[in-house]
Amino acid sequence: MWTVEGRIGPPRRSWSVTEAERTSSGISLEDLKGIRQRVRLREPQRVALHSWAFAQLADFITYKAKRAGVPVVFVDPAYTSQQCCECGHIDNKNRVSQSVFLCRNCGVVAHADRNASRNIARKGEAVWTAGRESRVPATP
Ligand SMILES: [Zn+2]
Repeated sequence: MWTVEGRIGPPRRSWSVTEAERTSSGISLEDLKGIRQRVRLREPQRVALHSWAFAQLADFITYKAKRAGVPVVFVDPAYTSQQCCECGHIDNKNRVSQSVFLCRNCGVVAHADRNASRNIARKGEAVWTAGRESRVPATP
């Protein structure tokens, strides 16, 4: 079973290649290309730093993961910070502050990063599963 989770991205990050290796799981990272381009229009400097740091971390993690034989997948970052990891409800008001997530639908309260992390893990698992299935030739 693929139960990974990993979220990286400034300013905070939580991930562990060692942990993924130990538990035979994989790592799921946000593919921030889209965000980078969308946000660049408004805050060029901040985003430049953001994407640089992200690229550095992503490279490092990918390198370590590869050496350890841990799969890494990149997922669409859309709504990972606005969606409730419990009920799936998406609302930008769910993100109360930088650190607090409060679902307007089911009322779950979580650390914003923790919530996003679970969404990214779920997406990563879907990407991983889809990739596997598409590579498997159809059997008659
Ligand atoms: Zn909810």
